[in-house]
Amino acid sequence: MYAFRTISVKPKLPENIIRLKELAYNFWFSWNTHARALFRKINEQLWDEVSHNPVKFLLHVNEEELEDIAQSDEYLKNYNKVFNDFDHYMTRDTWFSKKYPQYSGSPIAYFSAEFGLHESHPIYSGGLGMLAGDHLKSASDLGIPLVGVGLLYRHGYFNQAINRDGTQEAHYLYHNFSERPIIPLTNGGDKMISVDINGRKVYAKLWKCLVGRVILYMLDTNIPENNREDRKITDQLYGGDRETRISQEILLGIGGVKALRAVGINPAAWHINEGHAAFLVLERIRELVASGLSFDTAKEIVKSNTLFTTHTPVPAGHDMFGADLVERFLGNLYGELKIEREDLLELGWDENRKQFNMTLLALNLSNYCNGVSKLHGEVSKEMFSYLYPGLPVEEVPVHYITNGVHTGSWLAQELKDLYHIYLGEDWDENITDRNMWKKVNDIPDNLLWAVHQSLKEKMIAFVRNSLKKQRIRNQEPARRIKEVDQYLRPNVLTIGFARRFATYKRAGLLFLDRDRLNKLINNPQMPVQIIFAGKAHPADAAGQELIRQVYSISKEEEFRGKIVFLENYDIHMARILVQGVDVWLNTPRRPMEASGTSGQKAAANGVLNLSILDGWWPEAYNKENGFVIGEKKAYESEELQDRDDSFSLYATLEERVLPAYYNHEGGFPREWLKKMKNSMVSIAPVFSTERMVQEYTERYYVKSIKRWEYFIRDNYSAPRKLKDFKQFITENWHQVCIKRVDTNVNREMSVGSLLKINAYAEIGPLKPEDVDLEVVYGNITDRGLSNLSVSPMVYEGKEEDGTQRYLGQLILPQGTFGYTVRIIPGHQDFVRKFELPLVTWAENL
Ligand SMILES: *Cc1c(COP(=O)(O)O)cnc(C)c1O
Repeated sequence: MYAFRTISVKPKLPENIIRLKELAYNFWFSWNTHARALFRKINEQLWDEVSHNPVKFLLHVNEEELEDIAQSDEYLKNYNKVFNDFDHYMTRDTWFSKKYPQYSGSPIAYFSAEFGLHESHPIYSGGLGMLAGDHLKSASDLGIPLVGVGLLYRHGYFNQAINRDGTQEAHYLYHNFSERPIIPLTNGGDKMISVDINGRKVYAKLWKCLVGRVILYMLDTNIPENNREDRKITDQLYGGDRETRISQEILLGIGGVKALRAVGINPAAWHINEGHAAFLVLERIRELVASGLSFDTAKEIVKSNTLFTTHTPVPAGHDMFGADLVERFLGNLYGELKIEREDLLELGWDENRKQFNMTLLALNLSNYCNGVSKLHGEVSKEMFSYLYPGLPVEEVPVHYITNGVHTGSWLAQELKDLYHIYLGEDWDENITDRNMWKKVNDIPDNLLWAVHQSLKEKMIAFVRNSLKKQRIRNQEPARRIKEVDQYLRPNVLTIGFARRFATYKRAGLLFLDRDRLNKLINNPQMPVQIIFAGKAHPADAAGQELIRQVYSISKEEEFRGKIVFLENYDIHMARILVQGVDVWLNTPRRPMEASGTSGQKAAANGVLNLSILDGWWPEAYNKENGFVIGEKKAYESEELQDRDDSFSLYATLEERVLPAYYNHEGGFPREWLKKMKNSMVSIAPVFSTERMVQEYTERYYVKSIKRWEYFIRDNYSAPRKLKDFKQFITENWHQVCIKRVDTNVNREMSVGSLLKINAYAEIGPLKPEDVDLEVVYGNITDRGLSNLSVSPMVYEGKEEDGTQRYLGQLILPQGTFGYTVRIIPGHQDFVRKFELPLVTWAENL
């Protein structure tokens, strides 16, 4: 193609509303309705046309309209109020500044392949991106010195159109970045970095966007400095082939570190949000090796302040690359890291040494690893347990922090207004305050119901409008277009199911028994209507088939106008649905849903969850705040599981959900309203990113920063010693064993009496302080011990036979237990137990 330059001709903003431009470039607007209203008020139609993108709006709005509005006292009053709020927000003291003032200058880098901030900036595909976006927003609210790093995709994820026969069409729209709320970085010209990819130098232009107080940096290879192929690296999110994928991940990981350096940021902690970004560890090792450290010491240093969050138990969610691909794309690193090919592969080799696994790379070079719900934490322990041979699964060092949502971004303004009155003016600065949320119970039923119904009607209007547009585009007959106006009724129980159409999410579960579904939908006393939406990945044929199935059912006579499928699920649609339906349905095949967050958005809006006990739901469900489908049970076959779960789904709807919804007293469904309030009270304060980011900060970020400060002292003296220690221990561990164990009691003892255990260990050339001995006890199961408790033993001295004696003393609770003794390496600089995956258990017990 020929070259051209871009130029934007913009209308002039009147002086007294000049700060609209500043507002347009800060995603703070995305969670502040009154801020968005400043744009909408000027020209509502244009606001919708530009997909609520304020930058594009200011580019296309008429100068006369701007001048008119700048005369309106009412408008200026709102304008001043919004900027008062904005200025207060940007400068106020925060949770972090009060709690950790000493770390205000210690940046935390947060790397993710996708970020979902707002519909005007579509660089996300699903839950992972939403979570990352909400993470940045809460980091801003809490004043965490976080910086985001991601890629700027020219076409983002695809736009979905459903054609007349229900087939999903994927459209990649061209996005003009000068019309987006993003800002190119310049220093004279464009600010750029370069990365070696596949033997070529690839340049990336740097952009940023502002998310309240937080900055997200993004890399873009679509620039003239690159050849055609390399320009396409940042074309699509999750598009292209394996080569594109590894190129993207090299750009994100390695390029991302270079980008931070280019803007002068030296992070004190690093957060890898899913394996896509794991290559960042290689660049950090390279930097350290270039400064004269050995590869092994560099690894130790990188680990010291790195955190990895894993997001899926689905194998396809873990990125892997063949060794040949790694060799070809990263071969240049062997020399720079001063290592052999095998050493590099060793960092991410999977069990069979066939594929280089990004999850393992991240795990191997992080001090902390977490899943995203309690159940997912357990599943992940199981999944990674082979990396810790000899360790009971429950002790595999993978923990969890349950996901949440950014409350302000997902809550309906009408509810915010109610909260303002009933929870207090600064309710949004105390999201995690459980007592505050109890005041939801003070909201009068009639008010809450009126708000809920008005949101539902708004949603129904949105649904009709969306279907109408789709049918007009598909040139359907006038009758089909017109009848949309009769679709969905505000007094009918409405179920929402909107999520990616991945097969494990089982969008078709409700269709397994067509007759029973028919009876549910068309029950004259207690009818049901259902709204579906969601994209299937373009390479996922089964997911697309599911969409076709839902679409075709929605066209059948008995379901027409009662089951609908909306095309092009995105943040905007998500917001409207989670605010407007009565029930949010979630039917994943347990335990495949790592967390799920859409149900949390729904709950804060008083929408009741009806969900499989998977992901976050088992932690939240308290019998009164929603409904469960199925059991906490493992299945041998998917067919059986699907059948059981669908039975349970129908039965729960028939026996519990519908009676509660349709039982009115004095004009209101009192029982339902009670559950709505219970859902808000019990879920909103806990399943928020406010709580989640606080947990990340306290449990990982601050510790990582501290460790970093300690590690860099005296030219990295601590990690150098730690590396030597680990090497020494690893080489000599085969000489370590527990020779014998004796105790003061046999088989039985009385409640409250002391159990004394002596263990005699051989430790070869190790010193007694290099190891820890522990008594481990727990319940006896067919897989060994479970519900473990661990009690440290004390070193007592050397015996005549050369063994080292350790004493454990404990008082067991009543019951029957199994106990044993083990020996593990110990060092004052271990940040966690099992930093070395070495453990030796007593034999001959
Ligand atoms: C919240 C959200 C998701 C994630 O929801 P799940 O419950 O994890 O499926 C996906 N897409 C959009 C647009 C969302 O808003």
